[in-house]
Amino acid sequence: MTRPNLVVLLMIPSFLAVALLSKHPTTPLLVKLAPGINNASPRRNNPTWIRARREVSAGTVALNARLAALTHQDLERRVISKGPSRLPTITLTFDDGPHPACTRQLLQALHKLQVPATFFVVGYMAEKNPDLVRAIHSGGFEIGSHTFSHANLTLLSQEDVLTEFRAANDVIKRITGTTPLFCRPPGGDLSLPVLRSAADLGLYTVMWTDDPGDYDSPSNSIVIRKALHRLSPGGIILMHDCPRAVETVPMIVTKARAMGYRFVPLSQYRPRG
Ligand SMILES: [Zn+2]
Repeated sequence: MTRPNLVVLLMIPSFLAVALLSKHPTTPLLVKLAPGINNASPRRNNPTWIRARREVSAGTVALNARLAALTHQDLERRVISKGPSRLPTITLTFDDGPHPACTRQLLQALHKLQVPATFFVVGYMAEKNPDLVRAIHSGGFEIGSHTFSHANLTLLSQEDVLTEFRAANDVIKRITGTTPLFCRPPGGDLSLPVLRSAADLGLYTVMWTDDPGDYDSPSNSIVIRKALHRLSPGGIILMHDCPRAVETVPMIVTKARAMGYRFVPLSQYRPRG
């Protein structure tokens, strides 16, 4: 986990600075390191990445003009950190898939529960597992971008960040026929280049309110408790396409519903206007 430097933070509105300073865990399914560190790097040898990078480079002049025109208000409108708090709604999100060992089981569990969810898929894993991406899409679930390489975007240049989002979009579009509306930077690590790149591609950057730590928890009961104990209207639950999520999501959904919450698709959290 890196922290943004102070100069960058001073240029950023307060709501973003808070998000930037808060610690968010990264994901061990992809990164076999201590939680909080994401050393994955861009897959610069991948043909999809190379093609996306070429397109980004070809449009650098126009890109710089577009990015320079983005105001803080434009960026702010493109970040979803919570849903509306006037309704008892919450939404489920699953990062880091698709995963051959988990995605189908997770989809089965969600179908059984009749609950909507968003899968923030990693581009290179989507490319390796197109059938799983198709299963998510045809099951009626939303697909968001979790970048192409699951790299720490705050360490990359503006062009590389844009390439990460663009390559992931290309893969998702190639498989499902649709371009994602939402993205989640790995680890929740934000910077101005990240926010600008997402906005330039028309993506909403989605954070979360509740992190039950499904990827490294010692027990199901801890995951379930952490998912529910601070739940509030407009909540966004961060989970992962991992075995612990398959085991715990039925109880989390059942208990949250018993508390009066209704699960809604993430698209309902899009700002109006
Ligand atoms: Zn992740």
